[in-house]
Amino acid sequence: MKLIFLGPPGAGKGTLAVKAAEILKILQISTGSIFRSAVADGSPLGLKVKGIMDAGKLVDDETTIELVRERLAKDDVQKGYILDGFPRTIPQAQALESFSKVEKVINFDIPDSGVLERLGGRRVCRMCGYNFHAVFNKPAKEGICDHCGGEVYIREDDKPEAIQKRLEVYRTQTAPLIDYYREKGLLLDIDAKPMVDQIVINFKNALGI
Ligand code: ADP
Ligand code: ZN
Repeated sequence: MKLIFLGPPGAGKGTLAVKAAEILKILQISTGSIFRSAVADGSPLGLKVKGIMDAGKLVDDETTIELVRERLAKDDVQKGYILDGFPRTIPQAQALESFSKVEKVINFDIPDSGVLERLGGRRVCRMCGYNFHAVFNKPAKEGICDHCGGEVYIREDDKPEAIQKRLEVYRTQTAPLIDYYREKGLLLDIDAKPMVDQIVINFKNALGI
């Protein structure tokens, strides 16, 4: 199955993407994670995108599209994938159509208040990328990942100024994709307000699996 996860930052796309990928036995591809590893490695791509990401802005379409085009050409995603965080603009969606055929778009429905609560408390493992929350889902030992022992930190773009910028970017550039995909008959809405286990159930119900 070839799926897109669409929704505002902090909607829980990444968290569900990991679980859904296990359920469906397909790979999850997160453009945000790919960019973050590039930054951590200090690669040319990382140097190019670091400032943009820290400010909560979007990496340019050309760079992002090329990255996804190359990734989707690999053998391991020919039977399916979950795209988490791509496309984020109409030009990205149009480009995607020229190199892959998406079957469904899962739209994460959540009010701004929910987004602010999640992003404000989000803590992320630097090694495995697992998401914790300062109140709702703390690691057993402060600052240390339960899953891999990595360092748990606050993403630069989860600081208040960047959160506001990301929400604004979402509203102006990404939200138009909801109607875009609804008109194509690909959109499935899921209620992303509840806790993760319930979202998994909502996701399965939406797909009828
Ligand atoms: P979130 O969904 O929590 O905002 P992501 O991890 O998906 O975060 O993305 C982090 C950052 O990576 C974005 O704010 C943006 O700078 C960059 N990025 C990720 N995906 C894209 C994309 N499709 N187009 C442009 N920039 C992107
Ligand atoms: Zn970890």
